This record gives sequence, structure tokens and C-alpha cells, in this order.
Amino acid sequence: MRSPIVSVLGHVDHGKTSILDCIRRSSVTSGESGGITQSIGASIVPIESIKKNSENLLSLTKTKLDIPGLLFIDTPGHAAFSSMRSRGGNLADIAVLVVDINEGFKPQTIEAVEILKSFKTPFIIAANKLDLVPGYRKVDDLLLSDLGKQSSNVRESVDTKLYELVGKIHEKFSLNADRFDRVDDYTKKIAIIPCSAVQNLGVSELLIIVSGMAQKFLEDSLKIDVKGFAKGTVLEVKEEKGLGNSLNSIIYDGTLKVNDCIVFAGIEKAIVTKVRALFLPQELSEMRDKKTKFKSVKEVHAAAGVKIVCPLQEQVLSGMAFETCNKESINEVSNKLQEQVSDIFINTDSDGIIAKADSIGGLEALVKLLKEHNIKIRKASIGNITKKDIIDAESSKNSFLRVVLGFNVSLDGTPEKAKIITSDIIYRLIEDYEAWIKDVKKELEEKEVDKLVRPAKLEILQNCIFRQSNPCIFGVEVLSGKIKSGIPVMNKNGDRLSVIKSINIENKAVSYAEKGKQVAISCPGITAGRQINEQDILYSSISESDFRELKRLKEYLSNDEISILKEIVEIKRRKNPVWGI
Ligand code: GDP
Repeated sequence: MRSPIVSVLGHVDHGKTSILDCIRRSSVTSGESGGITQSIGASIVPIESIKKNSENLLSLTKTKLDIPGLLFIDTPGHAAFSSMRSRGGNLADIAVLVVDINEGFKPQTIEAVEILKSFKTPFIIAANKLDLVPGYRKVDDLLLSDLGKQSSNVRESVDTKLYELVGKIHEKFSLNADRFDRVDDYTKKIAIIPCSAVQNLGVSELLIIVSGMAQKFLEDSLKIDVKGFAKGTVLEVKEEKGLGNSLNSIIYDGTLKVNDCIVFAGIEKAIVTKVRALFLPQELSEMRDKKTKFKSVKEVHAAAGVKIVCPLQEQVLSGMAFETCNKESINEVSNKLQEQVSDIFINTDSDGIIAKADSIGGLEALVKLLKEHNIKIRKASIGNITKKDIIDAESSKNSFLRVVLGFNVSLDGTPEKAKIITSDIIYRLIEDYEAWIKDVKKELEEKEVDKLVRPAKLEILQNCIFRQSNPCIFGVEVLSGKIKSGIPVMNKNGDRLSVIKSINIENKAVSYAEKGKQVAISCPGITAGRQINEQDILYSSISESDFRELKRLKEYLSNDEISILKEIVEIKRRKNPVWGI
């Protein structure tokens, strides 16, 4: 059985790095033989060290621990995405979601849960920074007895904060959660472990719960053929002095050996090469410490982190899956690996938006979310938004698809017609895109409404007939609605009289006039004293087709306009009972 691969996720500054540091420190000081091997972009915590630190806690797991240890993925950057892929899904077997107990759920916490949920990755919540709950004083190394020894005010305050987390995760995701010691079945409820990375409180409990969960629920998927071909994922591509380009990677299956034939998934085609050298860092040494000396090894068994050096003609991207194989199966393995990335890198001629992300994991998550929201994708690729992306977007026939969505990328170029939306939170991209569509639709529909004859009611003013006829010019007050030049007018019997040819306010021509305005209008084809008289009420004469459109776009009419529209319909139906039906 291999070590389960554990990913630590959460909002920035909530304590991911501190928790990982704390886990490393505690297993180093436990002094177990082997202790912790700080591997490449991953830390192995041997099970002996977990057991030794938590002798009093073993009962919590209600199971015997046979797993060799826990392999924590420790890559800098957007861990959620670099660790959440390969095998058509997730690299991490299990995840620790870190939440600052005092701050609660934040956008990146929510995003992490979205991803965990969509990949069906089991997880626990580390409610970190317990020591910052006002009044908290650590007096005991064991979390539960320490909690018990706090004053009742502090205990209440911790409980309230935990229940806020429970409430939030239920409200947002319909998931059940509770404090870890109140959870009977970890498949049904998410365990929350209050902890403090700074005071090393709750971290042993966290390790034991994660181990127990992995042991109990992942047993079958952790069984591997150690002697088999290696399978893994590149976490980071790194230039290493003296080694050239090296690939910090995780292997989750089989054994990787020097001279093995190795196939990496590529953007367009698979990359086939040979393992030239493998390196592990010296035991107990700090990976990102400049002085780290790597030791060369001949082979590495899953699950482990390893630095791979191999001759490469093309660039291997972080996040790409790889497998070793024999010569006969190169084609088969290449096809299989390419199939996995084929629905991530999209390049079609059909209409759709352009999606960009900084990493494969990020792009995969973005594409997945876009598909879930039925948003068409024309191209999806890695890297900053280029001029070419903008041109591609601008060539779209559909203005709603003239869009580039960029996750964690910057913009090189100036869009003219394309809409560019960037964010470092994936679901924000979708939210912003959908909000933008709504705005554009509204704008378009408002323009559409403006093209129609809108409801309006006018009264001819006294002593304001300026010209009898050819055209007839007279003063009106707009009682309701809005008039525009060009619209037809009728009297209150529904007889169509004329068209408003022009509108003047204080001798200046204007194109429209709103409720409350007194204006002079000119109407051809009528004569004052015959078809119209002072104090007559006039209405805009709406056609049946305009009426149907106005009904469809009713949300853009004011209440006032809607009530005038009703009057107009009544008048029209006196002449034609089925008018507008
Ligand atoms: P990350 O961005 O999630 O990796 O967060 P870090 O581990 O870098 O932590 C962010 C800040 O919070 C740092 O200043 C840490 O010292 C602090 N911090 C992390 N965990 C704790 C904790 O348990 N208690 C307190 N008081 N501070 C913490």
C-alpha cells in the first residue's frame, strides 16, 4: 500500500505554509528513524512519526493504521490546481482545507471546496489560528483537553466560530460538517479540527484523522503494484544548477528507474524520452533551502516526490501527467495520456469564448466550470492573453462570445471590441461573465424598446395653437410617458390623427420630450379646430406588433408607461375587441 497523497488548500494567509511547516517540524523532532524526508515539492511524513506524536489519539481513528505515511504536496503557488489533476481527475487522494477560524470562509476557500467537490476528493477542515480566539491560552498539548480547560466564555466563542463554519458549508454546498470528535462517519460528515500552527496545537490530531480517513476509505485505491510502470504528475519545471531543466514530480504508482522510457502528455502531442537521472534531496534537508544537496538515486517507488532529469526537445508543462512504459507500448501510452488532456486544450473553429490560464490544473478547472455553465469554448490554452487571443475573440459573430476569460494571467494587448475578464478566482470569472452578459442584454433590449413607439399621453394646452395647418403647430404637455419625433398620435377615441414631425422647446428642436414637459409639436395633415381642439387628450398610437414587443420587454417600461399602455389598449379594443391579442 502506498502513502496517500495529501494536498493542503485554503485562502491566502489562512496558514497553509505554517501548517505544513508545523507538520514537518513535529515529525523531525519526533526523531524517528528516517524521520521526515523532505522530498521534491512534497513532504513524506512516516506513519511511525504520526503514531508516536499521537499515542493518546489512536482511538480517534477507530482503525489500525497500515499506510506507510502521508505524502504532503508542498508546491508553491496555486496548490489547489497543481495538485488536483492527472488520472482524469485528482492527484491528491485527500485534502486538508485550511480556514482561519476567526475569518471564516473566503473566496479562495469557497473555490477550493468547489474543486474538491467536483473531483470528489475527501477532505477535512483545519480551523487554524485557534490561539487568536480572544482569551485563548494554550495549557495542554492535547487539543480536546486544552479546549476543555479554557474558560466557558472562550469555549463558547470557539463553538460559535465552529458552528459558523458548519453553517456556511451547509448553506453553500449542502455538506454536513462537525467538530472531529463529534463525527462518527467521516464519509457522511466533514471533520473540523480546530488548530494552531504557531502553537503546534491540533496538528497531531489532524495527522491522525487524515491517516485514519485514508486507511479506512482509500484502502483499495492505495494498493499498487510497486514493481509496475511508474505513473505520476509534474509539479514544477525547474532550472537547477548543473542539472539543467529538471522536473519536480510526484509518482503515485509503480517504480521509476534511471533509463526508463518515459512519456509525458504534451499540448499537441506526447513527449517521449528517457530518464537520465533521478534525485532526492538529502534527508531532513530543507527543499527550498539554497544549500540543499540532492542525492542521485537509481530508482524511486510510489508514492514519492522526485526530481527527474531527462533530455527534452519540447517543453514539458507543470501539471502534465507521465508514465513509463516499454518500447512496444509507447504509442498506446501516448494516446492514453493525450486523451486525458484533449478536453483541456481546446482549439476549434466553432463559435465560443477564449479561455486562458496560467497552469494546466487551472485551465482544466476553468474549462470544467465553463462546461457546467453551458458556456461555449472556442479555444482554451495556457499563458497570458495575447494579441492573437484578442483577435480570435473579436472575430466572433456573437457579441456575447466576443470574450476572453483569463485565470491568473495578464493581458498583452489592447482589445477594441472584445471583452476581457481576468481574475485569480475561477468562479468569479464565470460570475463576472454572466453579470456582463446580463448588462449587455439589458443595454441591447433598452435600445430595442427605444425603437418602438412607447406609450405616451398628451394634453393640448390652452391658447397655444401656433399654426392652424400645413403643418398644424400647437403646444402640449406630456402627461405621461415620453414622446419622440416620428411617432403617430391618436385621439381618445382611437382615431389616428397624424405623426409628430418635430418637437420644440423654447424654439429649439429636440428629438424627444418626457413627462411634465411643455413643448410645441408640429403635425401634418390636420387642422386645429377640426380634428383637434385645445384641452384635447392625445395618445401615442401604438401598432399591434409594437404592443407585443412592449409586452415582452415590459421590464424596461416605467409603471407610469405601463398604466398608459393599459389605457391605450382599452381605447384600441373599443374599435377592435381582439386588438393585440
Ligand atoms: P498561507 O498563505 O495560507 O500559506 O499562510 P501562512 O502559513 O503564510 O500564514 C500567514 C500568516 O499567518 C503568517 O504570518 C503566519 O505566521 C500566521 N499564522 C499561520 N498560522 C497561525 C496560527 O495558528 N496562529 C497565529 N497566531 N498565526 C498564524
